[in-house]
Amino acid sequence: MIIALYPGSFDPITNGHLDIATRASKLFDKTVIGIFATPEKNLMFSLEERVVLAKKAVAHLPKIEVMPYTTITVDFAKEIKAQVLVRGLRMIGDFEWEFEMAMMNQMLSPGLETVCFMASQEYQFLSASLIKEVAGLGGDITDLVPSYVAEALKKKGIGKK
Ligand code: ADP
Repeated sequence: MIIALYPGSFDPITNGHLDIATRASKLFDKTVIGIFATPEKNLMFSLEERVVLAKKAVAHLPKIEVMPYTTITVDFAKEIKAQVLVRGLRMIGDFEWEFEMAMMNQMLSPGLETVCFMASQEYQFLSASLIKEVAGLGGDITDLVPSYVAEALKKKGIGKK
């Protein structure tokens, strides 16, 4: 049984994240979306909120689970017996960072393989931070996040009124 961990901050989950998780779930027996509690980013949503939004997004996908974690990613991978780390690669920008992370994780946990999925064309430009910025300026994000994520952004006081 191959278990894959898809780690990230998911602040909030977007259709780009969902695309990667869904595609991963077709290859692996179980895919866990791991939501890291304290990334070095200014967060808009609390850990609990990020987990609830992600859980809603994958409720219809039995091979995908959502779990929060607070430790270094490789330790969480061990804890849930994941053999694979899933990451998404958007055009150009992501490669250098993902490569560094994969090398570091390989050193920290030999045998834990990083598998990168190329972002789908329609989500190449999509990031959680851009979503927050566009929503904050009143831009239409309907096709880029699940409807309840757009609602949650509105509740935070940003997004189309
Ligand atoms: P981000 O703020 O970039 O969305 P995350 O930590 O939530 O950051 O991202 C987790 C993983 O998902 C990373 O590997 C990131 O490259 C990938 N990812 C984020 N957005 C997309 C997207 N639109 N398409 C494919 N992969 C993505």
